[in-house]
Amino acid sequence: MPNTYDEELYKLWRTAYQSGDPRRALALAIAGYLIASEDHDDMREEVFLGLIRQSVTAPNPLPRERVGLVDLRCSFCGRDGTEAQLVAGAAANICSQCVVQIGETMKHK
Ligand SMILES: [Zn+2]
Repeated sequence: MPNTYDEELYKLWRTAYQSGDPRRALALAIAGYLIASEDHDDMREEVFLGLIRQSVTAPNPLPRERVGLVDLRCSFCGRDGTEAQLVAGAAANICSQCVVQIGETMKHK
C-alpha cells in the first residue's frame, strides 16, 4: 500500500538537505523511518535509513556546488541556475548576465 506521506516527506527532506539544513533533513528522515516502521515496511525503512545516514554525514553547511541549481537565484534579477550561470556568495548570489551588466555600467562611469 503506497503511503502518501512518503513522497511529501521525501520532497521536504530534499529541500532541507539541499538548502544546507541537515538537522531539519535528519528530523524528516527519522519521521519517514518511524512511519515506515509502524507499517512494518522493510523496503521503506531502508530508504529512510539511507536518508538518515545521508543527513547525518552531510557537511554543515553543504558545499555550494551541491545546492540545487533551481534553488539558487540571482539576488539582483531573480534568474535561477537554469537561466544563467550563478556565482553564490555568503549572503547573496549573482548571475553571469548581471556580472556583465554591472561591468558595462562600471565602464561608463
Ligand atoms: Zn542576475
